[in-house]
Amino acid sequence: MWWHVKNLFRRILLLDPEFLCDTCKYDYPRACTRPERPNAMRCPDYRKGGK
Ligand code: SF4
Repeated sequence: MWWHVKNLFRRILLLDPEFLCDTCKYDYPRACTRPERPNAMRCPDYRKGGK
């Protein structure tokens, strides 16, 4: 819960507007079932290559 609130504040303040999922090649439902998608800030499965 706290992590989501912290993410929201960071997003609003534009301190860290980039979510990993935005550039991850697994950012679609069949490839990634992680609950943090599409707003992951840290992810051990991240692979660059998305949009
Ligand atoms: S693997 Fe991680 S970074 Fe990639 S889409 Fe899923 S949650 Fe986001």
